Amino acid sequence: GDAGVPGRVRVAVRLRPRNAEETIADADFADCVELQPELKRLKLRKNNWESETYEFDEVLTEFASQKRVYEVVAKPVVESVLEGYNGTVMAYGQTGTGKTYTLGRLGEEDTAARGIMVRAMEDILADTSPETDSVSVSYLQLYMESIQDLLVPANDNIAIIEDPKTGDVSLPGATSVDIRDQKSFMELLRLGEVHRFAANTKLNTESSRSHAILIVHVKRSLKGRHDADHGFPSENGTNSTLVKSFRPPIVRKSKLVVVDLAGSERIDKSGSEGHTLEEAKSINLSLSALGKCINALAENSPHVPVRDSKLTRLLRDSFGGSARTSLVVTIGPSPRHRGETASTIMFGQRAM
Ligand code: ADP
Ligand code: MG
Repeated sequence: GDAGVPGRVRVAVRLRPRNAEETIADADFADCVELQPELKRLKLRKNNWESETYEFDEVLTEFASQKRVYEVVAKPVVESVLEGYNGTVMAYGQTGTGKTYTLGRLGEEDTAARGIMVRAMEDILADTSPETDSVSVSYLQLYMESIQDLLVPANDNIAIIEDPKTGDVSLPGATSVDIRDQKSFMELLRLGEVHRFAANTKLNTESSRSHAILIVHVKRSLKGRHDADHGFPSENGTNSTLVKSFRPPIVRKSKLVVVDLAGSERIDKSGSEGHTLEEAKSINLSLSALGKCINALAENSPHVPVRDSKLTRLLRDSFGGSARTSLVVTIGPSPRHRGETASTIMFGQRAM
């Protein structure tokens, strides 16, 4: 994928550091991967002698700061959203590899720890003004092909509405909250987390089994902004109010979608039953539908099979076309999870 080319997917891989348990239990074993960030390469160990090498748009080691991760994974997408294009940032990987750390960390005690959602909103608020622009947020969970509102939990089974002419996707049933400052956004994220936990307790499931989706709508009114920036010549000595009165107000709408995907781990079907098996099927359905869509984008195929799942229907107007899409695949270092790590790497490779 190329960062500058719309419609293609930019893919980064991020390795999380060993946790305390892995540091002790796997002390005698090498990590299952070896990273060469300057070469944007990752080596997946096959055994003590052999490894397979993969290239990514960006390779983020266990030492990569949250700031750097934001800058390479999300910032180009946020900038294009501010210019009026839709964009998507997604994290894919096995549970426990750092998807939520990367996207959703609030970093209240330690601002260096702030994740992509918080940093994206900071940039969006810094570039917009409450007088001329509006920023609003919806926060949803997609579980078993059903969309729930994380801001108002009573709203569930939210419908996806597609405009047959424009292809625009909207969720009229989802709560949308106007955001004017970072503090209210943080409160909203916290509220969403509380509701997500409660909803999943009620459903007797875990948050790793659902997709969390943050949608930031940006509406910019070009009226009253610096005309030169937007191609409107301002005549010498002319009072621009007069000129403006002849122009209809121009409103430019775009959205940023941030998706913390359900854990990609294979669920052992023989060991699961009822609920869990249904969950596994539903997760496999949406992740494989997503995989097919991003493969189609990578291959420049005119047919992107968005209809196969709610996840891809919801993302339909936020990837491909003029939209910018960024995917971060998260992996753990443990040799015990080599199989899952390999399958995550392959998902990322197919997207490029
Ligand atoms: P996931 O959302 O993929 O299930 P989490 O984001 O919850 O994974 O991360 C699992 C654990 O690993 C958490 O305790 C988190 O703080 C830690 N972790 C993840 N990524 C990093 C990282 N890059 N640096 C330090 N700790 C991390
Ligand atoms: Mg998570």
